Formats: sequence, structure tokens, C-alpha cells
Amino acid sequence: MTMNAPESENASVKSMEQIVSLAKRRGFVFPASEIYGGINGFWDFGPLGVQLKNNLRDAWWHDMVVAPPIGPDGTPLSIVGLDSAIIQNPKVWVSSGHVGGFNDPMQTCRQCKKLFRADHILDMLSKADWVASFCETLGIDSIDATATLSGEDLSRWAKNRKGGKKLASGMALVRKTEETVSWLTAADTPDTMTGLDLARLLSTENRGEEIQNPCPNCAGDLTPPRDFNLMFESFAGAVKDDANKVYLRPETAQGIFLNYKNVVDTSRVKMPFGIAQVGKAFRNEVTPRNFIFRSREFEQMEMEWFCPPAEAPQWFDFWKETRRNWWISLGVDPENLILRDHDLDELSHYAKEGSGTADVEYRYPFTHPHYGELEGIAHRTDFDLKAHQASANVNLSYLNHETRDRYIPHVIEPASGLTRGVLALLCEAFTPDESRPSKVFMKFSPRMAPIKAAIFPLVNKEGMPEVAQKLYMKLRQKHAVQFDVKQNIGKRYARMDEAGTPYCFTIDGETLQDQTVTVRDRDTLSQDRINIDQVESFLAEKITANTPD
Ligand code: ATP
Repeated sequence: MTMNAPESENASVKSMEQIVSLAKRRGFVFPASEIYGGINGFWDFGPLGVQLKNNLRDAWWHDMVVAPPIGPDGTPLSIVGLDSAIIQNPKVWVSSGHVGGFNDPMQTCRQCKKLFRADHILDMLSKADWVASFCETLGIDSIDATATLSGEDLSRWAKNRKGGKKLASGMALVRKTEETVSWLTAADTPDTMTGLDLARLLSTENRGEEIQNPCPNCAGDLTPPRDFNLMFESFAGAVKDDANKVYLRPETAQGIFLNYKNVVDTSRVKMPFGIAQVGKAFRNEVTPRNFIFRSREFEQMEMEWFCPPAEAPQWFDFWKETRRNWWISLGVDPENLILRDHDLDELSHYAKEGSGTADVEYRYPFTHPHYGELEGIAHRTDFDLKAHQASANVNLSYLNHETRDRYIPHVIEPASGLTRGVLALLCEAFTPDESRPSKVFMKFSPRMAPIKAAIFPLVNKEGMPEVAQKLYMKLRQKHAVQFDVKQNIGKRYARMDEAGTPYCFTIDGETLQDQTVTVRDRDTLSQDRINIDQVESFLAEKITANTPD
């Protein structure tokens, strides 16, 4: 039985701990309210982090709204922007289905009282330290060996377990040890099992009993799943009663549906077209975790693509491909991205059978070797417009003036997490390199890098600072660049490596003779000389390289 991936595979998995630590140390991401002990599920972005986030947001806005992708027929698509309010009339969330349906089934542990999202339990079990220790106790490659494991062994294991957390006395596995052993022995198990395999085997479904999954924290008994609404509530106005109750939006999409008619009536958009929006969304996640992957306040970049119903399947395929390729254009290794179609039981409350949802998934260090959601692409059908049409009693149909056809459009929605995108970029960029003084560098693409270039005088004398300053004053008009004269050049390079600055231009003795500077490439460490007059165009070319056509 193997609990962990083989050594060689593990060695290539980046350390989340090191990524979080660099993010803090270099001012990318700080825990919110840190001086008060933090607040679970909320994060602040520091000077480098906010610049990285803005670069990602601006690239999305540029490639969606300013210069939208070229459509299948070779002409540019039509997409317009929007910025709607975070708080809307609460009826919106009733019509959209969020009041009734935006629930995560939750389970509470009867022993340790911890709360879990039902659909996270298997994954958490696979990483639970008590499951690992249980597997170790079985200590076997082949399940036959469980025949030698008695119920007494199991009880002893549970009682004597050193380190880790205390196990719940009510733990089903231990309470019914003989049964567990005989079940494990009889189970049709593979020769090698991961923690997740074991957790699956121990689940209610497989045991065919009225026993819930054990608690990932203490192995206690969990309550049956109960719904928990994820929307944050507040009150608009002085009186805190039900009539004044409002919700912080859990997605930016609804603001787009609410303004669909306004946009059609006031701009010259013709079907098919898109409306895009970037902004904050709030979800009272039960288990915020994995750094900024799942937080309670986060940002989304969503686009609703309105099209005639018959064209929806073709646009769904178009957007799946386009969106995956976009992440690749930002420097994400295609190996770390997959497109995964949702199973039927995962579909959101608005997605009808057959309508389809797919995720662009990224291989985060904490999901490795598996992948986790980065962006969802959903065929939302006409669910939202129809729901608002019925509840608000307004006509949201579209009239094709040429054919006189009237219909409620279908919607394809590429919904991306800006916050989660920043996490994917941080993980992707993090590159350990023992040979460098910094031991690590952040390999952001020039378009995403928070600082595009640094300008250094080799020494702080002999006329070099003046020349460097002049170059800096020119470049700062267009790009986020830094001028640095402090410490020796090696230390300055190291600082820029950790910030992920792709180019450093150094003014040295030769510059004063022949007007050339060295350009140091962060990734290859090569140092070439270029004319000082070419620096601006060199940088501009690197920053725009790979921008989708
Ligand atoms: P999940 O299954 O991870 O809860 P979801 O499928 O509910 O996500 P969507 O409603 O499709 O997510 O939201 C679109 C995008 O918003 C997601 O792909 C993700 O990038 C981002 N997102 C959703 N919830 C969070 C969160 N709690 N923290 C950070 N980003 C989030």
C-alpha cells in the first residue's frame, strides 16, 4: 500500500509552504487583519501582489473587451464592458436561484464539532493524518495481508497512536473493528492504495451501511449532509429587519443579466455578443483553504456570451478552447492545464441536463498530480434571463430585425477567478534554483511581471547614476520599472529574481564609452549588450510578445 506519490514525482512538486512564504516575504499576499491574528478566508495584496493582479485583470479586459478574440468566421467578436453594484435588490438572488439553491451540503462532526463541505470530505480524508497512520498500520502492499490484522490490532492502533490528534472514541472504524477488518479483507482492492482509495473504500456507498464517512479531523461520526447558504447578508438602511435584508453578490454574472436589456437598448450590439465584468464576489465558504484558492472575498472575471439558442453548442466549444489557450498565452505550461467536462451530478443549479459545463483546471501544488478549477465555462442556457423576465415582469427577448425572429438568447459563460488566477501564476512562476543567491526566482511572463525591468548603475559614482536615472525617467512613463543603486549588483539581481523582474539593465563603465548597456535575462542569466537607445523598444517588444491576436 503506497500512501504517497513516488519520490521522483514528489521532487518535482513545488512546495506550497515556500510559495506562501515568498508571497509574504516579498509583499505579494498578506493575511488580512494580520496584526489582530488574521481572519479566516480573507487576504490582502501587497505592492507586488496588487500589481500582478492588476496585470492579470488588465490582460483579461484587453483580450476580452478592448480587442476581443477573432471568431470562427474570421471577424472579431463583439464584447462590451460593465461594472454593476455589489448589492442589488434581494429579489435578484431569489430569481437567480441563489437564495434557494446556492447551498453547499455540510456535515458536522458529532465529536469534534468541526464543519465540512460534504463534497470535500473524500479529498480531506485522503490527506488526513489519521488515515495515513491507519494505512501505515496496515503496512502492506497486498490487501491479503489484512487477514493478519485483527480487530484488537485496530483498537490498539487507535488507543496508542502517538502524535497527531486524538481520535474520537466513537469512530465507526474502531467501534466496529472486527467488521472493518473483515470488510477490508473481503473488499476487492487494488494492490496499491492511496489514501483517497482507502477513504473511498471506507465510505458509506462502498460499505453499504448506514455509516457516514469518518470525520477527516478526528475520525468521529459525521451528521448527514445539511444545506448551508453561502451568501453573506447585510442590511441596507437603519433598520435591521427582514425588509431591509440584502446580500453581497456571490458572483458578478447576475449584474450582467440585470443590465442585458440596458446594454441592448443603448449600445449597438447585435447577437451574438458578450458583456464582461470584473469585480469582487463574496461567498461564506465553510472551509476556506489552500491559501487564496478558496477565500470568502475574491475577484471574478466573468463574461456572458449571448447567442441564438441553436448556436450555443458551437460557442461552448469555441470558448472552452479560447479560454484554455489564453492561460497558455500568459505563460502557463500546457502540461499544467486540462479541460475537464463536468459530470452530470456536478452541474450548478442553473445548468440543465445536457447543457454542459467544463472547467479549465490547473495543477496546483496542493492538487498535484491532479488538477483544480481555475475557470468554469458554463452553458447557462436561457435560465437566468427567463427567470428575471418572469419575476420582474419585463420582456427580455431579443428581436432580430432582419428575420423578425424573437427569442431569449442562450448564454455561454467563461467565469474566471482573478484571485485564483493570481495563485496559478504565483505557483507557475515559482522556480527553485540552488545555483542563484536567491535560491529561487519567479518566472512571470513579461506581460504579467509586476516589475517589468530594473535599471542599475553598476556603481554609485563615475557618472553612472546620472545615465541610469535618465533611462529610468524615460522608461517609467510607460512601464512599471525600478531604479536601484543600493548594495552590490549581485544582491540587486537576487531581489529582482524573487520579484520576478524579467530584465535588468545595467549602466557600467562601457556605457559611458559606447552608449551600450547590459541586459540581464532573468531566466537564462545571459548578459548581452544593447544600445541604450534600443532599451525602450526591446522592453516593449518583450512585454507584448504572446498577446493573443
Ligand atoms: P468551486 O467548485 O471551486 O467552489 P465554483 O464552481 O463554485 O468553484 P464558479 O461559481 O464557477 O465557481 O466561479 C467561477 C470562478 O470563480 C471559479 O472558477 C474560481 O476561479 C472562482 N472562485 C469561486 N469561488 C471562489 C472562492 N471561494 N475563492 C476564490 N475564487 C473562487
